[in-house]
Amino acid sequence: MSITEHTLREDLLATTLEMSRARLNVGTSGNASVRLGGDFLITPSGLASETCAAADMVLVDTNGNFRGSLAPSSEWQLHRDIYTARADAGAILHAHSPFATALACQRSGIPPFHYMIARFGGTTVRCAPYATFGTRALSDAAVTALTGRNACLLANHGMVVFGRDLAHALALAVEFETLCEQYWRTRQLGEPVLLSDAEMAEVIERFRWYGRPRESGCA
Ligand code: 13P
Ligand code: ZN
Repeated sequence: MSITEHTLREDLLATTLEMSRARLNVGTSGNASVRLGGDFLITPSGLASETCAAADMVLVDTNGNFRGSLAPSSEWQLHRDIYTARADAGAILHAHSPFATALACQRSGIPPFHYMIARFGGTTVRCAPYATFGTRALSDAAVTALTGRNACLLANHGMVVFGRDLAHALALAVEFETLCEQYWRTRQLGEPVLLSDAEMAEVIERFRWYGRPRESGCA
């Protein structure tokens, strides 16, 4: 096993443990993966992260072949198809986190109620139509909902987020769940006032350089 694979196995396990600690996932809900060359490592199916070791992470190739005694997550196809469709995906997290799931059960996306929606690639976050877990139909629906985005809801199921690596994906997942909670709380007060296309376009432009070092001085 290469040093890279060894390290990524440890990092993937640490990420899933952190997802549990942050209450993004409970028990065997959700899964996570990380790209490894042309293949990817993914969490095993039906096991809580607390009971897993790094050696339990399953290596899957683009045809869905895997090696080892444990079966890969039932959502391996969803992860595989996102890696195929999105060169910018280095790690993918799937969660049944409370607020994202509550919104997903309404089967509607999230409008531009807050400027942080732009963090996920556009002016809205879409909700993929319902399909049974672990199916090609769910994978197809999620890939479509992720067009131009790095997060989506899955109807009556949960959420999917991807990032350039595990740390980025985890940070985005926590931000996304927070945004879902904020939307949920906002809706308790009534219908929010939405940002306009022009206001969101300005935010999307600002996010192009937000958080990056500037050449000199402060604007
Ligand atoms: P796995 O344990 O097979 O990853 O399934 C959990 C899940 O969330 C299915 O959508
Ligand atoms: Zn799930």
